[in-house]
Amino acid sequence: MRTEPPLLSVRNLRTYFLADEGTTKAVDGVSFDVSAGRTLGIVGESGCGKSVTALSILRIVDDPGRIVDGEILLSRNGGSPVDLVKQRKNGRFMRSVRGGEIGLVFQEPMTSFSPVHTIGNQLVEAIRLHDSLTKKQARNKATDLLTMVGIPRPASTMDQYSWELSGGLRQRAMIAHALAPDPRLLIADEPTTALDVTTQAQILDLMMSLQEERSMAVMLITHDLGVIAETADEVVVMYLGREVEKGSVEDIFYDPQHPYTRALLRSIPALDAAPKVKLPAITGSVPHPFDRPTGCGFHPRCPEAMEGLCDIEEPATWTPADGRGVACHLFGDHQALVSLKGRRS
Ligand code: SF4
Repeated sequence: MRTEPPLLSVRNLRTYFLADEGTTKAVDGVSFDVSAGRTLGIVGESGCGKSVTALSILRIVDDPGRIVDGEILLSRNGGSPVDLVKQRKNGRFMRSVRGGEIGLVFQEPMTSFSPVHTIGNQLVEAIRLHDSLTKKQARNKATDLLTMVGIPRPASTMDQYSWELSGGLRQRAMIAHALAPDPRLLIADEPTTALDVTTQAQILDLMMSLQEERSMAVMLITHDLGVIAETADEVVVMYLGREVEKGSVEDIFYDPQHPYTRALLRSIPALDAAPKVKLPAITGSVPHPFDRPTGCGFHPRCPEAMEGLCDIEEPATWTPADGRGVACHLFGDHQALVSLKGRRS
C-alpha cells in the first residue's frame, strides 16, 4: 500500500492553442498522479493530447499554446509541492526542473542530440548543468552512465557523434543523457516507437531496471498497449485531449469499461487469433481537436453511442474507486438517464 504523496500530481490540466482561427483544446481537463518507483502509462491514438500533456509538465509548449487551467504539483524533498503552472516558463526554477528533476526521453534521439557535438560533450554538459563537478569528474560520470545503459564500448562512444550510432545505441545514449542529472521523474515519449521489436524489448527492460535501481517515477507515453501491459502500474487512456478511462494496469486490461478502451484492446493482434480473420479496427479517425464533436468526443466512432444523449451531452467521469475513472454515459449517474431513455424509446 502506498502512503507517500505522489511525486507529481496533475490536476484538471487544460492546455489550449489560442489562434486567430479559433481555439484548439489539445489537453482538456486531465488529472493523474505519478509516484516514486511507479510507472504511469499514458495511452491513446496520435492526436489525443499525450505529448502536449508531457510538454505542459515541462512548460515547453510552443506558442500559441497556453496552460489555461489546472495545477501541476511537483513535490520536492519533503517540502510542500510546487505548482509548475505558476512558475515562469524560462525562469531559473523551471530550468532546474527540466533536464534536472524531470528527465525526458524522446521518440527520435537523432533529432534530440546535436549532430555537431560528440555524445560525450553533450553528456558532460548535461551533468555539469545540474552538478558542480569538474570536467574530468563529469566525463567519468558520463562514461559510467554509458556503461550503465549497456553501451558496449563506452569510452569510444564518448567521442562519437549521434549519427554514427545505430538506432538502439542512440536511444540508450538518450536514456543516459536523460539520467545524467539523476532525475526523480523520467518522462518517456514513445521511446521505442522508432526501434525494431528486439531493440524495443531491450530498451524497455533497461528503463524498468534503471527505474527499480533508482526508485524513479516514470511517465511512459505510447500508443502501444503491448508496451503498457509490459511496463505500467497505472494507466490513463486519453482521447481528444481528455482522459476517458484510468485505473491500474489490471483494471484496464482485465476489466476495461470505456468503449474506446475496449476497442483499443480488441485491435491488438493475438498470437492465437484465427488465421485470415480481419483484426477489428476502430472505424474512422480521431477528429482534429479544433473540430471537436459535440457531446462525447468519441460518439462518431462509438458502436454503443446513444442518439440524443451521447451526441449532445458530455459524459461526466464516474469514479467507482480511488484511482479509477470512466467518462462514459453507460456508467455512473448517467446510467439512470440511459435506462430512462431506454424505457421511453
Ligand atoms: Fe460511446 Fe456514449 Fe460512452 Fe461516448 S458516452 S463512449 S458515445 S456510449
